[in-house]
Amino acid sequence: MKKKKVLVTSALPYANGPIHLGHLAGAYLPADIFVRFCRLCGHDVLYVGGTDEHGVPITISADRQGITPQQVVDKWYPHIRDTFERAGISFDHFSRTSLPIHHQTSQDIFLRLHEQGLMTARTQRQLYDEQLERFLPDRYVEGTCNFCGYDQCSGDQCEKCGKPIDPLELKTPRSKLSGSTPVVRETEHLYLKLDKLQPRLEKWLSKPDKKYWKENVLNFCRGMFKDGLKERAVTRDLSWGIPVPLPGYEGKVLYVWFDATIGYISSTREWAEQQGDPELWKKYWWDQKNTRLVHFIGKDNIFFHVLMFPATLMAYGHYVLPENVPANEYLNLEGLKFSTSRNFAVWLHDYLDRFEPDPLRYYLCSNMPENRDTDFNIREFQAHNNNELADTVGNFINRTLTFINRYFDGKVPARSTLGELDRKMMVWLSKEGISDDVGMFFDTFRFRAAANVFGEFSRFCNKYFNDKAPWKSRKSDLADCATTLNICAHAAYAMSVAMFPIMPFSAVKIWKQLGLSEKWEDHPWSQDYSAKIPEGHKIGPVEVLFPKIDDEAIADQEATYKDNQQPQKEEPAKTPEIAFDDFLKLDIRVALVKDAQEVPKSKKLLKLTLDVGELGERTVCAGIKGQYAPEALVGRKVLMVANLAPRKVMGIESQGMVLAAVAGEGGSEALGLTTVDPERDLPPGTRIS
Ligand SMILES: [Zn+2]
Repeated sequence: MKKKKVLVTSALPYANGPIHLGHLAGAYLPADIFVRFCRLCGHDVLYVGGTDEHGVPITISADRQGITPQQVVDKWYPHIRDTFERAGISFDHFSRTSLPIHHQTSQDIFLRLHEQGLMTARTQRQLYDEQLERFLPDRYVEGTCNFCGYDQCSGDQCEKCGKPIDPLELKTPRSKLSGSTPVVRETEHLYLKLDKLQPRLEKWLSKPDKKYWKENVLNFCRGMFKDGLKERAVTRDLSWGIPVPLPGYEGKVLYVWFDATIGYISSTREWAEQQGDPELWKKYWWDQKNTRLVHFIGKDNIFFHVLMFPATLMAYGHYVLPENVPANEYLNLEGLKFSTSRNFAVWLHDYLDRFEPDPLRYYLCSNMPENRDTDFNIREFQAHNNNELADTVGNFINRTLTFINRYFDGKVPARSTLGELDRKMMVWLSKEGISDDVGMFFDTFRFRAAANVFGEFSRFCNKYFNDKAPWKSRKSDLADCATTLNICAHAAYAMSVAMFPIMPFSAVKIWKQLGLSEKWEDHPWSQDYSAKIPEGHKIGPVEVLFPKIDDEAIADQEATYKDNQQPQKEEPAKTPEIAFDDFLKLDIRVALVKDAQEVPKSKKLLKLTLDVGELGERTVCAGIKGQYAPEALVGRKVLMVANLAPRKVMGIESQGMVLAAVAGEGGSEALGLTTVDPERDLPPGTRIS
């Protein structure tokens, strides 16, 4: 295999709270599995990350606790760094964006883009807190929603109706900081001309290698291109952040999303300085020909990693662009979203206080939200540990090594003539066996599939042990018994290397139990595993690899979030009361379907011809195409509002509306038509009240 430079990043978490399992499964575990695999393959791998220490979430945390933003990030940086380390997330360097080296790197890139004329100054109107003499970012304002009237609506998005909010349109706005009524002031900001960079981005994303990117990522970009990229503000009125390095912009900082992704570069620069070679970072970032750059992120970060950051790097020049951005969907918790604010989460540090990291890594890998949202279910986690790890993987290794200890004096016995079963196992152990099968999936970010193949291999190993029955051959054919155990020891070895990317701690334990080096450098991927252990090799002490997890321990972990499990009950949407007279204005009638046709080019609509008795014949468009075959409707009696003002729908004049059970926002999805009691023969045109 050709050795490559592989530069891997994981999204920078905000340094204002702990990491939960949703974060882990989204951007950190997949990256770590990938880098460990690449390291075993002998590639030159650099895995960088860090904490995002700027932005409104940090300043809000600080304001809430009455401390400075610096105090917030100083508290959480070591916590997050250590939690990742305990979980086995093997960053080569984990930096932070509040460091001077990051400020310099970001300002340098910002200035370069500014010099190239890629920024434009625009005046915005923004709310200003006169009492505190500061501008108020969206999230610092609340008031009454101009859509639904909710009176504690936040300035960025209404929690009640979900609509994005322009803080200038809030009724009775209040400053969340002082409670005073803000005033509108003008402020000047710089905008990155993403629209100008769109053609270059489109060209880059249309290259043939991009066809292997995840559909969710490509679809997102296609949608953005279709609408046309817009200029995007890259400065903010905040006191916490990276100062805008231009005269006239004193008191303003870079937009956190402009600087956060640059954090990958400054993390690499800090790493290079620590290696004693400050220019070493360019060996990765500036080698467009040989570096594979991969960003691991959650789906909410696609815009910044696939459009904004590459656009920035393209404009700067020299930099490598990502080879892939395998964005994950979300991991949910027992069917609901992880929620930091409601403390509805399994916190990673809390999990690690109770259990080993590997069973979690294995479960999340088997259940990774690669192409759709998946669910963390604690009983399923327990079953994975107890059935797949303890009873299958651990059991095979334990019975193999215990047998060698007991009957072969702890020395790996000789291998002689192979039978049919042995030869089958040897195929798995060859260079093209388990290595290729699992490796192909690691290399293409299909981690669930990799875990599946690994599971299949471990079941095969157990079956091999059972079918060969060495406890029998020990008495009848000692040479075959020895062959079996020799092959089992090598299978245990192959298993350990194949599992290393997913379960690194357990792989090291197996190496120790096999009496082999505990350094991963001594266990390359894709080797002839059956040739690793010499005859007579002394194995190490045997220990249980995966203890079972009992119900009590599970219930205990479950209790940490179960109390918060009830979803906040959405109050049923209230519709305004109407007067009886208003109701009487509706002319609802029984109508007989005479004809039903599909409306061409419409996904939802059927065109119905209705007999409404004394009112004559009506044409009505109804959004029920997915629910009924047109011919099945003919002859049915339905209810319709007959005095609705006619309107044009897909070029057809719809003269009324049929009543249907609906779901979705604003009744956007029809579930079924309301029909008339079939026992009564109500003629078309009968009035309903
Ligand atoms: Zn609202």
